[in-house]
Amino acid sequence: MICPRCDTDKVEVMATSPVGHVWELYLCKTCTYSWRSTETPNKTDPKLYNHKFKIKPETIPSMLVIPPVPPLKA
Ligand SMILES: [Zn+2]
Repeated sequence: MICPRCDTDKVEVMATSPVGHVWELYLCKTCTYSWRSTETPNKTDPKLYNHKFKIKPETIPSMLVIPPVPPLKA
């Protein structure tokens, strides 16, 4: 399986529906994008995923880190 966001094949099944096996939840080990098998093709198909939101795996290490939440004020 190919990740819709970064186009790599490092995708694993993270969870399956507890009843009836009606969906699977996938997780990309490269960019941490996750999606359910029942979502619309523009979220699950690499060819239909919005190109504005695509990620190149080689740029991930240089992305900004979300700053930590500061301690509460007294
Ligand atoms: Zn990915």
